[in-house]
Amino acid sequence: MSEINMTTKDLIDEIPESSSMRMGRIAREKREQIDLINLGIGDPFFTTPKNIIDSAYGFMVKGKTHYESAQGVDKLRIAISNYLKNRFDIRYDSSEIIVTPGAKQGIFYAFFLLIEAGMKVGLFEPSWLGYVPSIRLSGGIPVFFNLDNGGFTDESLTNLSEEKVDLLIVNNPTNPSGKVWDKKELDLLADYCAEENTKVISDEVYHEIVYEKEFVSLGKYEGIGKDLVLAGSFSKTLSMTGWRLGYVCVKDKKMRERLTKLQQIIATCPSSFAQFAVADTLEASLGRTEEMVGVYRKNRDLLFETLNNTRLKPTLPDGTFYMWVDVGEDGEDFAVRLLNDLGIIVVPGRDYGENTQRFVRMSFGIPTERIEEACQRFENEFGK
Ligand code: PMP
Repeated sequence: MSEINMTTKDLIDEIPESSSMRMGRIAREKREQIDLINLGIGDPFFTTPKNIIDSAYGFMVKGKTHYESAQGVDKLRIAISNYLKNRFDIRYDSSEIIVTPGAKQGIFYAFFLLIEAGMKVGLFEPSWLGYVPSIRLSGGIPVFFNLDNGGFTDESLTNLSEEKVDLLIVNNPTNPSGKVWDKKELDLLADYCAEENTKVISDEVYHEIVYEKEFVSLGKYEGIGKDLVLAGSFSKTLSMTGWRLGYVCVKDKKMRERLTKLQQIIATCPSSFAQFAVADTLEASLGRTEEMVGVYRKNRDLLFETLNNTRLKPTLPDGTFYMWVDVGEDGEDFAVRLLNDLGIIVVPGRDYGENTQRFVRMSFGIPTERIEEACQRFENEFGK
């Protein structure tokens, strides 16, 4: 059956179990025998800052426990607009922002609305494994592009123009490689998209978790403004993954209206008290984000230095709390062995693209003591 003729039920049934789910199952079986260290999860270990929790509780007590507008409460949209301007010099009016239950749902809405049956959607490899199922469910065909030695160059541009994709998703900083796109790369990409009228979704949920490099948002490029959906989230920024609060920014009025309508149909609105709490505390909480990034940086340096002294080949991430590691063999075999022998959980690279089997993703968003313990085990097993 061609993908275009498949029903939604067929498409859902066809989506395979992800390898991280499989690793989780094996880990549950191993838990009794070994002290497991989980470098597999994409969830920061920090508890949400207390001021946000207190604020949410206060709003609940005050009765902010009801449906709110489908686009998101005004106060939060204004807070996000100010935050994006002050932090990243990105200009979106509060009316151009839609608050969603996590960026994941916002990105799904965008795929669902922008993709027509059989449309080619471009992704840069390695690419977060959350996109492909959403693209397929929306009727699109994922097309992976390799970056030229990890970078977006004139040659990458040639590959892109040969395939003529109608929609591109860019993830900056990138899960799983930790790549932060250079301004030069974004200039090239934005010029191409403006010229070809290629629509772009820019997933910037890790924009606060950046180390030495400067983060530049695609939202700064006016030329692609009308064709851009910019996605952000509080999940990683404020360690709020379970609160389910993200947002999309959209200049195009019609697209915005459709997105809001879709949200009204699917979710009605995101959690009301969570929205009020973040609106109230966003600015004051950013100091905590800085502290968290300090811990991630320390963890990154420890893990990188350790792995770099083994036969494994880690890439030093510019951002996120992930390290992309070339293990020189099938990543899934390696991950299963690592779990069985060392009690360390990592995610096999297979689901992150078409040529990613030799890699695994390691998360260092866990306490430093646990990273130290993992490093000790790596050193004992693989040390030169
Ligand atoms: N994009 C990327 C690249 C992610 O890694 C994640 C979460 N793992 C998301 C989007 C989804 O974030 P949220 O919790 O806001 O839905």
